[in-house]
Parts: sequence; structure tokens; C-alpha cells
Amino acid sequence: MKTLLLNPGPVTLTERVRQSMLQPDLCHRESEFYDLQDEARTRLLAVYGLDPHKWSAVLMTASGTGAVESMIASLVPQQGRLLVVQNGVYGERIANMAKQYGIEYVALAHDWMAAPDPAAIARCLDIEGPFSHVAVVHHETTTGRLNDLREIGALCGKHRAQLLVDAVSSFGAEAIDFDEGNIAAVAATANKCLHGVPGASFVIATRAAIERAASRTYYLDLGRLARMQAARNTPFTPSVHAYYALVEALREFEDEGGRAARHARYAALAEQARSGLASRGIGAVVPPEQSSVVLRAYDLPHGIAYEPLHDALKSLGFVIYAGQGDLSKRLFRISTMGNIGSADIERLLQAFDDLAR
Ligand SMILES: *Cc1c(COP(=O)(O)O)cnc(C)c1O
Repeated sequence: MKTLLLNPGPVTLTERVRQSMLQPDLCHRESEFYDLQDEARTRLLAVYGLDPHKWSAVLMTASGTGAVESMIASLVPQQGRLLVVQNGVYGERIANMAKQYGIEYVALAHDWMAAPDPAAIARCLDIEGPFSHVAVVHHETTTGRLNDLREIGALCGKHRAQLLVDAVSSFGAEAIDFDEGNIAAVAATANKCLHGVPGASFVIATRAAIERAASRTYYLDLGRLARMQAARNTPFTPSVHAYYALVEALREFEDEGGRAARHARYAALAEQARSGLASRGIGAVVPPEQSSVVLRAYDLPHGIAYEPLHDALKSLGFVIYAGQGDLSKRLFRISTMGNIGSADIERLLQAFDDLAR
């Protein structure tokens, strides 16, 4: 039996992407590798139709956290100040990065179940400012909540701050208004909504932001990575096979209709899971209109702890995902990323029926 991954990355691969990793062994100092790197960078901009004169996609060999760390450590300038909007694990992680690099920051913590509060953000920008940058997680995977970038971007515009976005679990599926949102950069990874494998991640930043980048980190220095990649070069050994998979996944993404099609596909699967679980008495934690289409959190069925639920579903071929921190006692999560379809969600719902018997 094939096990389907319903965790938020790595995802169940398509055969097309899996097979792409069996291409010829490649030295990363040969022109074939730089062709691969160029194609990945070009295709990443094309996902959101971005103008290459304004934006640059910078690749790195790391998981999604590496890309977020590169963005935070590099794009807040030496004398910059950062406001971190937090409503989950990943927002907290950004504040921890700022702390580790000695960046001056203020964390605006919200309850993990709550949406970012525009009035509180405005107050913070007024009273504790000025801030050069505001950081926020687009899709807070902790709860499945989609944070409103437009609202926060508008506040940034008013206060002359620029937005740094952790879009690790939304890039490729959710709308991002790159040119209207006062966005300086977005960080993401190959192995979530793009359906590649772990090991390749990236930051898409304005060329202006990259030019002003600070150099606080050695390996994750965004300015150096950008300069070398623009010159068909690389400072270190990249995860060549993960790049093969990323490029093939991006080709497949385009063949399947691009971002709008991926959003529609996830939306249908997420709604199928939500309504199916609701009819079985299992409620969603965040209302659908405030949730991403990528992942949803559900209250654990009455009287069942996460571990036995996980183990029973795994024995039937589905890997679900636990809540983080205190939420592990309350909820479980189901992602709709990767090579899964409506027949798979139907089987998952039947598995819940089997468990109830
Ligand atoms: C998955 C994820 C990350 C990065 O996690 P890695 O394990 O480093 O790939 C960062 N932010 C968000 C919102 C995520 O969902």
C-alpha cells in the first residue's frame, strides 16, 4: 500500500518529479548545472508573473527555514529595525532569528488562534517605530490561517516600512500581490505547494533590496548568492538532485495551469475534506474563509488523542500531522499539497468511518 503524505511537506511526489532525479550526475561547476539553476530562477519568477527587471529569485540549498533566515539576516540593514507579527510557531521562529543575529526587533504576539490585529500593528508602528521592516508569515501553518498581506502591506506603506514574508507554505497556491503590497522579499521552498523535494529553497526579493543587503551570515548571505547566481556561478555545492526535481515540478506546475489552477485544485480538496469531516462531527479550527486552501486544522474527534488517531490512519495509508506545542492536545492537521486527488480524500473519509466503528 502506498502511503500518502497529508503533512505540510515534504509532499507525495508525482512520478514525473520522482523520475527527474534520475537524470545524469552533474558537476555543479559545469554549464549544464548553470542552465538548470537559470531555468529554476526564471520559472520561480514566472509563478507570479514577476518582472525580472524588478525582482530576482535567489536559490539556496536549505529547507524552508534556511530561506526565511537568509531573508531576515540579509534584508534588514545594519541600522534597520524589524517588527515581527506573530500568530503561530513560524512567526515566533522569525523573532528568534532576529534575536540570534542581534537585529533590533519588536515582536507583536497574538493568540495563536487569532488573526493579526491591524489596529494593534498600526499602534505598534506608531508608538514603537520607526521600523525599516515588518515580517509576517503568510500562511501560518500552525493553525492553517491565511494572514492578510494586503492589510499589513498597506500599514507598511503608511509607515515607510517594507514587508518581509514567510510564504513557505503558500507560495505557488495562494495569491500574493507582489507589486502593491510594499513587499521587499518573500521566502519559500521547493517541497510544499510547488511539489518538489526538500533541499532547495529560495528568496524572491526586489533587486533594490538585494543591493542594500547586510552580510550577517556566511552561508546564507543573500547578496552574495544573488550576485553569483546572476553570473552563472554558485559559492557552494548545491543539492543538484533537488534542483532537478524543482525544475521538473515547475514545468509540471505550468503544464497543469499555473498558480490559479493549483489554488483551485487545493480549494476543492480542502472543501471536500472539511465538509466530509464536518458531517462526521469533526470541526475545523479556523473558519474556511480565514483559512488557506493548503492546510486545515481540525479538532481531534471526541475522546481520541492524536497518537492513536495518527497510528490508525497510518496503518490505512495516510500520514496526518500533529498540532504544535499546546495545540498537540487539541487538533490535528491535514494538508492538500502534493500528488493527491479527490479519490484519496474520499478514502481518507472512509478511514475515519472505519475508525468510528
Ligand atoms: C514548513 C514551513 C517553514 C519551514 O520549515 P522547514 O522544515 O525548514 O522546511 C517555514 N514557515 C512556514 C510557514 C512553514 O509552513
